[in-house]
Amino acid sequence: MTQRRKISAQLQTQIRQAARYLCEYYHTDERWQYVAFTVDHVIPVQAGGANTLDNYALACFHCNRRKADKTTVLDTETRQLVALFNPRQQLWADHFSWSADGLFIVPLTAIGQVTVNLLELNRERVIQIRAADILVNRHPPTDDPKL
Ligand SMILES: [Zn+2]
Repeated sequence: MTQRRKISAQLQTQIRQAARYLCEYYHTDERWQYVAFTVDHVIPVQAGGANTLDNYALACFHCNRRKADKTTVLDTETRQLVALFNPRQQLWADHFSWSADGLFIVPLTAIGQVTVNLLELNRERVIQIRAADILVNRHPPTDDPKL
């Protein structure tokens, strides 16, 4: 069975650059945070996920903790199991967009919806941070879909 492995500083730098320093779930820029982001196994090691670049995503502590070992979530409306957003296989902009005021992540798909719900991508604290960041042009990230 695959074990979790310590990720070298060099590999961590590669992961950060590939992610453009964004938490790959809620698209906040690590460079404005007080706490460094973490490396998420998109497919958890326990579920057979590999310790390789194509299974790593940059994630803030909150997203990583909320996601834990999940890859699917029960959609309470449709009663179907829906896969969480996979930042290695899917494009963020296909599943999420920003509200016109930039404060909320708007899910575009069922995948986007269950991910917003599970990871609490529009929680109160994050909305406050986005509001403050908009004032100083730090949000939304410049290469996201435009407001
Ligand atoms: Zn996050």
